[in-house]
Amino acid sequence: LMNRQTTPQTTDQEYLNIISHSADHLLDLINDVLDLSKLDAERTILNPSNFDIESLLQEIYNMFCLRAQSKGLILNLVPDGSLPQCIHADQKKLRQILINLLGNAMKFTATGSITIRAKAEAETENPQTDSTHRLHLEIEDTGIGIPAQQLTAIFDAFTQLQPNLEGTGLGLAISQRFTTLMGGTLTAQSVMGEGTKFSLSLPVKEVFAVDIPETAESRRVVGVAANQPTYRILVVDDRWDNRQFLLKLLSPLGFDVREAENGQWAVALWQEWQPHLIWMDMRMPVMDGYEATQYIKAHLAGQATVIIAFTASVFEDEREIVLAKGCDDFVRKPVSANVIFEKLTQHLGIEFIYEERPTTGESVPSALLPLHPSDFAVMPPEWLTQFRQAATIANPGPLHALIKEIPGEQAPFAQRLSQMVDCFEFELISQCIPALETDDRF
Ligand code: ADP
Repeated sequence: LMNRQTTPQTTDQEYLNIISHSADHLLDLINDVLDLSKLDAERTILNPSNFDIESLLQEIYNMFCLRAQSKGLILNLVPDGSLPQCIHADQKKLRQILINLLGNAMKFTATGSITIRAKAEAETENPQTDSTHRLHLEIEDTGIGIPAQQLTAIFDAFTQLQPNLEGTGLGLAISQRFTTLMGGTLTAQSVMGEGTKFSLSLPVKEVFAVDIPETAESRRVVGVAANQPTYRILVVDDRWDNRQFLLKLLSPLGFDVREAENGQWAVALWQEWQPHLIWMDMRMPVMDGYEATQYIKAHLAGQATVIIAFTASVFEDEREIVLAKGCDDFVRKPVSANVIFEKLTQHLGIEFIYEERPTTGESVPSALLPLHPSDFAVMPPEWLTQFRQAATIANPGPLHALIKEIPGEQAPFAQRLSQMVDCFEFELISQCIPALETDDRF
């Protein structure tokens, strides 16, 4: 909510970005552990959809481009003409596998390049898997390599060949098990000191571009378009903070929002106030969301009320359960503001007004400015030494003090460095400086 305010102080905005960044990182770790537990409990299911495979590869390429640049690595994306434009597969799992493979390639490559290759072979349609093509993806790096005797062990959970590096040792275990679930294979080849190549082969189905669902609008919502009714929205959740999030998000936009802390209260408010839409938490004391939904939907008037289930459940089949109880849709916690707006548009036809510029939290234009070796040339060698020392011990205070010494005309460079410090990119900074110091162009 604070990130959505239009005029926060610059430092507040930076702190908010750090909180948001760290929360995302924690969520990633938790999700890794949950993914593995779900796989172990055989509760992971496939969620295939239609998507543009080249756009997915491009998006992932863009995501890693800056990091590659800062490390002085060349990142190549080589899509082959044989790729179908649109495919039907589990996009989320494929994205997760590719991000893990590329993240590893970045971590374990100090010089040279990382190449993503993609091609497809047409296959005779397989009625069992419904596939028409076999997709071949390769992530090849020129990094440290993996010893031949470890090439199978790296796919085991909690295996890390270099201790104390960031990571959980779960990424490859999850990637391989997702791949198997999707009917494919994931293998590694490597030459020590020369590099590693991961090959992913997946059965996929080609589909037509028109079948691709539109993706959510990622700009910041600033209002509701004119000439629309005042919608009544009921937020049902036993947690005060969850209710506050929706209340503070929707009330300023002109929605009439009320809250209830259990199903019984929600049913009473529904009878008296007839909300257009209810955000319904499922697990609550007194009367839970399942019972309240069943009660409301059993009445004729309840058919007109949209009920969207809010659940913290990590299981994908929870969706089927809440839909069977009568909910119109399902949203998993933690939920982002954009998903809320998207659902309101989908179910009530509400048109929102979006701001022109992208939201800071989602896209920081200045973060896209790469560091250039010549930027450092303005600083004396003692400064470089001190800066490197502070980065090595991950000490933001002295780093910020040193950044203040950068001449005013180099403001974009200072800002970029400052962002790297705020995002805890100490490893990246210390990797950059020695390389820059010995660089001939420097
Ligand atoms: P994490 O990256 O969290 O350590 P992973 O399961 O993704 O966990 O990887 C397990 C281990 O496999 C890594 O810790 C590393 O030792 C090795 N590894 C993975 N990818 C590469 C690579 N591209 N080059 C060298 N070693 C790698």
